Amino acid sequence: MGRVGLGLAVGCAVVTCAIAAALVSRSVRRRRRWGQAVALVRELEVACDTPVGRLRQVVDAMAVEMHAGLASDGGSKLKMLLTFIDNLPDGTEEGTYYALDLGGTNFRVLRVQLGGKGSMILSHKVESQPIPQELMTGTSEELFNFIASILKRFVQSENDGFQQLPDDRKDLGFTFSFPVKQLSISSGVLIKWTKGFSIEDAVGKDIAQCLNEAMTKIGLNMRVAALVNDTVGTLALGHYNDEDTVAAVIIGTGTNACYLERTDAIIKCQGLLTNSGAMVVNMEWGNFWSSHLPRTSYDIALDDESPNRNEQGFEKMISGMYLGDIVRRVLYRMAEESDIFLDPAKNLSVPFILRTPLMANMHDDDSPDLTEVGRVLEEHLKISRVPLKVRRLIVRVCDIVTRRASRLAAAGIVGMLKKTGRDGSGGVASGRTRGKPRRTVVVVEGGLYIGYTMFKQYLNEAISEILGDEVAPYVLLKVSEDGSGIGAALLAAVYSSNR
Ligand code: ADP
Ligand code: MG
Repeated sequence: MGRVGLGLAVGCAVVTCAIAAALVSRSVRRRRRWGQAVALVRELEVACDTPVGRLRQVVDAMAVEMHAGLASDGGSKLKMLLTFIDNLPDGTEEGTYYALDLGGTNFRVLRVQLGGKGSMILSHKVESQPIPQELMTGTSEELFNFIASILKRFVQSENDGFQQLPDDRKDLGFTFSFPVKQLSISSGVLIKWTKGFSIEDAVGKDIAQCLNEAMTKIGLNMRVAALVNDTVGTLALGHYNDEDTVAAVIIGTGTNACYLERTDAIIKCQGLLTNSGAMVVNMEWGNFWSSHLPRTSYDIALDDESPNRNEQGFEKMISGMYLGDIVRRVLYRMAEESDIFLDPAKNLSVPFILRTPLMANMHDDDSPDLTEVGRVLEEHLKISRVPLKVRRLIVRVCDIVTRRASRLAAAGIVGMLKKTGRDGSGGVASGRTRGKPRRTVVVVEGGLYIGYTMFKQYLNEAISEILGDEVAPYVLLKVSEDGSGIGAALLAAVYSSNR
C-alpha cells in the first residue's frame, strides 16, 4: 500500500470512529433523556400517591371541615350552604313541570310530566346546547335574556307528544350550579362565579329574580318555584327513585356534593325548624382543602395561573375542567427537559389545549400500538411520530392523574358518610351507636364520572377500600343522568304554589 493509500485508510478509520462515537454519544444522550422522562413520571407517581391511610386522613379532614362549616359562616373553606329543601320528592307529585339547568359546559331545558302516586315520571324531554363563550363573561341581562328566549322556544315547540300548556302560570325548577346564598326555596343571591364564568354585575343579585324578570319581559308566564344547584337536583331525582338516597355528588366540569343533614346539627342556624327535621346542605366541596391532599408542582402552577387562585383546590385536583390540563403540564415539562418527542411540541404550552375527554380517550386506549394516543397527539397537539414507549409513558401519566382524582373524590364521599354516621365507624359525630350499617345510596352525576371508564372504576374501588368489606356492601353508588335538571322539575312540583 502506498502512502496515499495508507493515509486514506487511516482517514476512513478516523471518520468511522468519529461517526460511531457520535452515534454512541447520541444514543447515550437519548437514553439519559429517556431516563429523565421516566424519572419525571416516577416523581409524579410518588407525589400523587393516595394509599388508603392517606385517604382516611382526607375522610377525617372532610368530616371535620363539614362540622366547622355548619358551626359558623366562614368557619371552614366548606360553605355548607342551606338549601331550604326539607322535603324531597317521593313519587306522589303530579303535573307538567319545566326546568333549566345552567352550570358548566352545557345548558339544558327540560319538561317533565309526572303522573302521581306509583306512576313515576311519565315522560321527559331535554334539549341541550353549549353556552356561547361571550355570554359567560358579558352582562347578567344578556345571559338571562338568552336563557329565557331558549326556554320560550322550547315551550312553544309543538307536535312533541306533550300536553298543551294551559294558560295558568307554570312552575319552573332552576338548576343554577354556582355558589348561591339561598334566601328561600325560590330565591338566592350569587356569591361568586366558578368554572370559567365571570359576569360581575350578577354577583350579589337574586338569580331567580333575574330569570323571573327576563321571562316576564319575553312574555313567558312562568316563575321559579325552586332555585337549586345541580347536586340538589340530582339528590331529588335519586330520592324519588330510591328513598335510601342521602347524598349526591357531581363530577363533571366542576365537582360538588350535597347531603341530607339533621337540622339540629346545623349549629349556625339555631332554631331552624323544618317539617322533616332535616335539610339538604349544599357543601360546595370544590373549595375543600386539607394539608393531607397530595399536591404537586403542577397543581401549584395551575392554581397560580387560574383566575381563582387559592380557591376550589379540591375541584382543581378532581374535575373535568382541570384533569387534562394537569396532564398537559406534565407532558410539557417532559418535552422541555427530555426531548422525548421527535417533533417540536409547541402546542403543549397552550393552556387547556388537552381537554379531559381527549385524555380519557388516550387512557382508555387498549389497542396494542396505542393508536388512539397517537391520533390525539397528532390531531390535537400536532405531535406526530411518537414512539410506542413514549405513548405508553403518556398513558401512565393519565393514569396517575386520574387515579389520584378519583380516589380523592371517593375520600370526599366517605367523609360525608362519616359525618352522617353511615361509614360504619360508629358515627360519633351523629351520636349513633355501632350497629348494623344501614343501606345507603349516593347518586353520582357528571360527564367525567359517566364518560371516563377508568375514573369510575378507580372511584368505586377506592370507596370499598376505605370502607372495608363489612360496610362497603351497604353503600351503593348509583349513576344519575339528567338528574340535575329532572330533579329541579321534581322540586318545582314539591314546592309548587298550585299544589
Ligand atoms: P356540566 O358539568 O357542565 O354540567 P357534564 O356533567 O356533562 O357538564 O360534564 C361535562 C364535563 O365532563 C366536560 O367538560 C369534561 O370535562 C367531562 N367529560 C365529559 N365527557 C367525558 C369523557 N368521555 N371523558 C372524560 N371527561 C369527560
Ligand atoms: Mg351538570
